[in-house]
Amino acid sequence: MSYDAVIVGAGILGSSVAYFASENGLKVAVIEKEKEPGIHSTYRNTGVVHRPFYLNPLKRKASAFAASRSYPFLKKFVEENGLYWNQLGTLEVATDPEGAKVIGDYERWARENGMEEDEFQILDDKGIISEEPNVRGKLAFLSMTDSVVNFKQISEKMIEVSESKGTSVFYGCRTESVSSDGEVSCSCNGSEKKISGKAVVVAAGGETFNLATKNGLKGYAQLHFRGDYWKLSEEKGKLFRRNIYTVPRFPNFPFLDPHIIKRHTGGTEIGPNAFLVPGPYDYQGTLSKILKNAFGSGEGPFSVKARLFRDAEFMRLVFADWKISLFKSSLMRKVSEFAVGITEADALGKGISGIRHNIIDERGFLSEPFFYINGRALFVLNYNSPGATGSPWYASVILTALKNRGLLQAIYANLVINDESEALAVKALG
Ligand SMILES: Cc1cc2nc3c(=O)[nH]c(=O)nc-3n(C[C@H](O)[C@H](O)[C@H](O)COP(=O)(O)OP(=O)(O)OC[C@H]3O[C@@H](n4cnc5c(N)ncnc54)[C@H](O)[C@@H]3O)c2cc1C
Repeated sequence: MSYDAVIVGAGILGSSVAYFASENGLKVAVIEKEKEPGIHSTYRNTGVVHRPFYLNPLKRKASAFAASRSYPFLKKFVEENGLYWNQLGTLEVATDPEGAKVIGDYERWARENGMEEDEFQILDDKGIISEEPNVRGKLAFLSMTDSVVNFKQISEKMIEVSESKGTSVFYGCRTESVSSDGEVSCSCNGSEKKISGKAVVVAAGGETFNLATKNGLKGYAQLHFRGDYWKLSEEKGKLFRRNIYTVPRFPNFPFLDPHIIKRHTGGTEIGPNAFLVPGPYDYQGTLSKILKNAFGSGEGPFSVKARLFRDAEFMRLVFADWKISLFKSSLMRKVSEFAVGITEADALGKGISGIRHNIIDERGFLSEPFFYINGRALFVLNYNSPGATGSPWYASVILTALKNRGLLQAIYANLVINDESEALAVKALG
């Protein structure tokens, strides 16, 4: 079977690529190993459509741009299709003078990343209490436009619309390898299948790295960081009106601190931390996973990971976040730095954990997503937060990159609309 575009993975990114490709008349196939779209990171995340105030434009310009450009598209798509959207807002709190300086950076970055003046406010300690009576801090950034969604629901709808335009979706099909001439070899419910495309996009979350290394990618390794969430009792959940984040403890690493979040289900949860786990699907188990790391964590050569494991600050983060997963008291100590009125007894049990798949090179973490392109195959790596928010823009960038290489012929009415985004797209190619 031969298609214009073959997409491996029906998470929010693969679904977005399928949506735009089929909207533009391409013959599309999606290959998904599970029985439905979006059951991994797309479902197991915080569910926030992020505004880009916290993204330093010097380091994370492409992600900031992706979040900015994707926001109006997502809002319209959700509205038009009757999906969940709750513009609750996010309060990002600094609890010490060091953090207060970062709030100043956020104000600058918000403007530089294109947020409108009426989208945000800076609050002092009294302002924080008047907005959120159970939150304490020195200074805070209030984003009024951050919104709570269900990314799995969005992904499902994108696939549904794409199928209505002729896209074939192969569920229960695990991709084993992707060749540079556009052939995808899969194992579909026990039988071998080959599906070819003029272009292949690999958006397979935690498995993209292995598929890319089989295809020749060298010089990188991958580590997995699980985010655990804890459910807050309904009564205590009512103490907080919106998502409450704090300025991250470890700004050199790509993780936010555990925060209070409002779910599309109506519940309130605390999380996620960044718990180093050995594999891409280690959603359960705590002590057993900590011990398993001793036999090797993640994928790729140890020589690439060695520098990071010798970095004292990184090891502090690893141990601090293992502690949070092991002991509820540790999580609560962290949260009580900014939230009052909740105790360990109010964290009822674990919610649904999700796993980030971070690519590192010999210098450490890569801060942005990047593409590895070999012939007709494009692999999307390091596609982490705010990846779900930025998927529509990244999908457009991917299709534009394939068109610019002469692999796809259609003209795209997509989100890559001016020279600046073209330039960023090239940068995103890494
Ligand atoms: C804890 C956590 C919190 C987050 N919070 C947010 C947030 O609030 N806002 C935000 O914007 N982003 C957030 N993110 C990031 C966001 O969730 C991810 O960037 C995004 O979901 C990645 O989407 P994806 O489609 O690339 O991956 P996935 O959703 O993991 O999809 C990959 C798909 O590929 C399939 N697949 C894998 N291997 C194969 C194979 N060999 N063959 C066929 N199919 C395969 C999988 O089954 C899966 O369906 C968070 C992430 C985590 C982990």
